[in-house]
Amino acid sequence: MRSIIDVLDLSTGELDDLIRQAVDISERPRDFADAARGKKLATLFFEPSTRTRLSFEAAMYELGGNVLSVPGAALSSAAKGESVSDTAKVLSCYADIAAIRHPREGAALVASEAASIPVINAGDGGHCHPTQTLADLLTVHREKGRLDSLTVGFCGDLKYGRTVHSLINAMARYPGTKFVLISPEELKLPAYVREGTIRKSGLAFCETASLEEALPGLDILYMTRIQRERFEEAEDYERLKNSYILTAEKMKLAGENCSILHPLPRVNEISVKVDDDPRACYFKQVKNGKLMRMALILMLLREAKSPKEKREMGEDTGEVCQNLRCITTTEQELPQRFTIDPFTHRKKCVWCEAETKPLF
Ligand code: ASP
Repeated sequence: MRSIIDVLDLSTGELDDLIRQAVDISERPRDFADAARGKKLATLFFEPSTRTRLSFEAAMYELGGNVLSVPGAALSSAAKGESVSDTAKVLSCYADIAAIRHPREGAALVASEAASIPVINAGDGGHCHPTQTLADLLTVHREKGRLDSLTVGFCGDLKYGRTVHSLINAMARYPGTKFVLISPEELKLPAYVREGTIRKSGLAFCETASLEEALPGLDILYMTRIQRERFEEAEDYERLKNSYILTAEKMKLAGENCSILHPLPRVNEISVKVDDDPRACYFKQVKNGKLMRMALILMLLREAKSPKEKREMGEDTGEVCQNLRCITTTEQELPQRFTIDPFTHRKKCVWCEAETKPLF
């Protein structure tokens, strides 16, 4: 039995299998209408969501399964002070599989360690969002016919955008990927992704603040929303919120085959006038997300009877994670655990992956 916390929990071979399965489901939906009959998916969302939650629930219904849902943190026992671990143990008594979204980074990992059913991370703070990445990968595959040798621009909030972190983790495994990181200085990609993923992969990357300069060379442009809810100071958000707006005029700079992706929701970073451009793929992504979640649920349910997969959980070094958004800041009895990243040689929290000070 295993849980999916990060897209790296899936090998590239498994990603290919999921893509094949999702395409198969889209072509022969009736053949899958009973595939999860008698099984229950619990969805536990402690943060706002439209697409992710609805697509998990639609996915389970279309597989013939059932859904148990707690509408939001305010209505669950979390509001009474229940820990994520306890909630996960309770879920395991009722459901066969769970999808969890939480504002604290590392929360899904904590849930998966405590649960005795597979747990899927549906977004943990600014950290990861692996099932959005599955939607993104199927979209790229359908648009380009491949996942390798693509120049991918990421634009907007690269610091807090968890979908960016997860998609970079995935794309860094495909040869020939080039990353163009487009953001204001304050919203640059965190070091643990830039160094620990991109530089480690040896793939080409560049950083720029100019969308206009980057656009002509891109195969894919992944636009993102400035993540208002992650800012510590409201005035910083106000200053940065209009950093990038992709308009029909700017689209003239993009190549004729440049696909525009966005995990949604959009605020104002893509003008609605771009929606009719054949290069706009963000509503296709939404459909693809449901198909990939169906494929993932099937895969995890198939493996659910095998023994629980063990993760490398580092050690208690007596230090305390400094990331204010880490799940350890609210789960009082959760042990502080750290590992050393083999590439950067920096110590990082196993739960949220934030680095402590450099070791060397
Ligand atoms: N829906 C995506 C997420 O949950 C993107 C976003 O909220 O900007 O991370």
